[in-house]
Amino acid sequence: MAEHMLRFVNVPQQTPDKRAVAERRRDFGEIYRIFEEQDAARQSSRCSQCGVPFCSIHCPLHNNIPDWLKLTAEGRLEEAYEVSSATNNFPEICGRICPQDRLCEGNCVIEKGFEAVTIGAVERYITDTAFERGWVKPITPRRELDASIGIIGAGPGGMAAAEELRRRGYQVTIYDRYDRAGGLMIYGIPNFKLEKDVVLRRQRLCEASGIRFVLNCAVGTDVTLSELRARHAAVLIATGVYKPREIGGPGAGLAGIVPALDYLIASNRENLGDHVPDFTSGRLNAAGKHVVVIGGGDTAMDCVRTAVRQGAKSVKCLYRRDRANMPGSMREVKNAEEEGVEFVWLTAPEAFTGDDAVIGVRVVRMRLGLPDASGRQSVEPQEGSHHTVKADLVIKALGFDPEDLPAMFNEPALAVTRWGTLRVNHRSFMTSLPGVFAAGDIVRGASLVVWAIRDGRDAAKRVHEYVEQQQALPAAAE
Ligand code: FAD
Ligand code: SF4
Ligand code: SF4
Repeated sequence: MAEHMLRFVNVPQQTPDKRAVAERRRDFGEIYRIFEEQDAARQSSRCSQCGVPFCSIHCPLHNNIPDWLKLTAEGRLEEAYEVSSATNNFPEICGRICPQDRLCEGNCVIEKGFEAVTIGAVERYITDTAFERGWVKPITPRRELDASIGIIGAGPGGMAAAEELRRRGYQVTIYDRYDRAGGLMIYGIPNFKLEKDVVLRRQRLCEASGIRFVLNCAVGTDVTLSELRARHAAVLIATGVYKPREIGGPGAGLAGIVPALDYLIASNRENLGDHVPDFTSGRLNAAGKHVVVIGGGDTAMDCVRTAVRQGAKSVKCLYRRDRANMPGSMREVKNAEEEGVEFVWLTAPEAFTGDDAVIGVRVVRMRLGLPDASGRQSVEPQEGSHHTVKADLVIKALGFDPEDLPAMFNEPALAVTRWGTLRVNHRSFMTSLPGVFAAGDIVRGASLVVWAIRDGRDAAKRVHEYVEQQQALPAAAE
């Protein structure tokens, strides 16, 4: 065992410092500072180099975590970067925004009584340093292939697949309906979790690698799927899920009740320097308002914390279950509470009050019941517990479903599941249309960046196998 490792007994866990609450409430900068070199080395040295590393098993990318921790502890950072980037296209992004408490770190098995190795912070440190020191280079394929691949969607799934296909020598074009690449990494996730320069730096690297981006191009409107199929040897759909789940009840149509993604996109665009009329008019701006966010996932956490930074008078998050049963990351709940957000657990909306614009949310207290078939505790309303919460901006963050892709692409033969996600063969990643593959949220349903990267990488392998096989076929059989 290396002399540098197994120091968890003497070295306590340390996470990167957070900026002071008063400071971070006023701006959109990332809240965590980056490790100093000696801190990254010390924290890495806590790893006990497990024979069976549960951290890696529970990382969707099966990153070789113990290897890069050891290299970091030894000060061999360039090698650490090589090992880390071999399995992950965007390690500095995952290091920032993976819910590590549920994945790698939540499964770190340093002996009982000692806290997990801070894997995510070290992963981010390694790649940020690699960028700073010029070790991150564009892809230069060993050979160029004639075949081209079209990818629909420039989110993490599409971009990871693009890199893997480009590495193999394919000519890759990514089409996206937005004006910037990155998918939810650019327009969904706020700056205080992931600064946009980090995403744009990746886009520039893809471009320098020869990947072509065709932005402002909505497939189904500006170009058809069948045109793309004719243009490319294979097509990968990585369009994510964007249809917001709605909320009903009296008053649900009042002004001032807005979908979460509209609200977050407006804020992200403003921070990128765009002019957003709905922000300027106040419709998608929390400044000076009593804000109520409905939901308990990552999106709700991002909305409440955005509202704080915009200067809301008060920010409440209503969730119908309790803290232990919420889907959002506990780390983000803690950050939000520090920043002044009030969580109103076990509370569900029933109606919205107001004449034209919302002025309040009528709510009912809930109690947890018995677990349902999925093992999750059911919830039921408590009689006589109704009351009204003041609100002049209500943000609906109840999750997302897929848009109707067969209709959007005018391809009725594109098969979907009963949830509207694309039906793929789970080994080949191919949809019901030959040569058309799919990956990321549009297959899984709303998930995580790290899973989209994993799917993009796996799908790229299958696209490659397919194209090779097609090209090996005699012309008559094609
Ligand atoms: P997306 O990132 O959604 O990208 C899809 C792309 O396809 C978009 O750019 C879209 O414009 C494009 N597109 C769609 N339709 C078309 C079309 N017809 N033509 C052309 N282009 C099209 N995950 C985490 O791991 N950590 C987090 O902290 C986290 N926070 C989140 C916060 C919010 C507010 C949201 C909404 C999600 C969050 N997620 C988080 C989830 C994560 O962002 C997604 O799981 C991930 O981005 C999915 O990647 P994707 O490539 O499948 O799709
Ligand atoms: Fe942990 Fe995510 Fe990094 Fe995997 S990719 S090691 S889960 S932070
Ligand atoms: Fe190191 Fe923890 Fe992974 Fe074990 S589980 S190899 S201690 S990081």
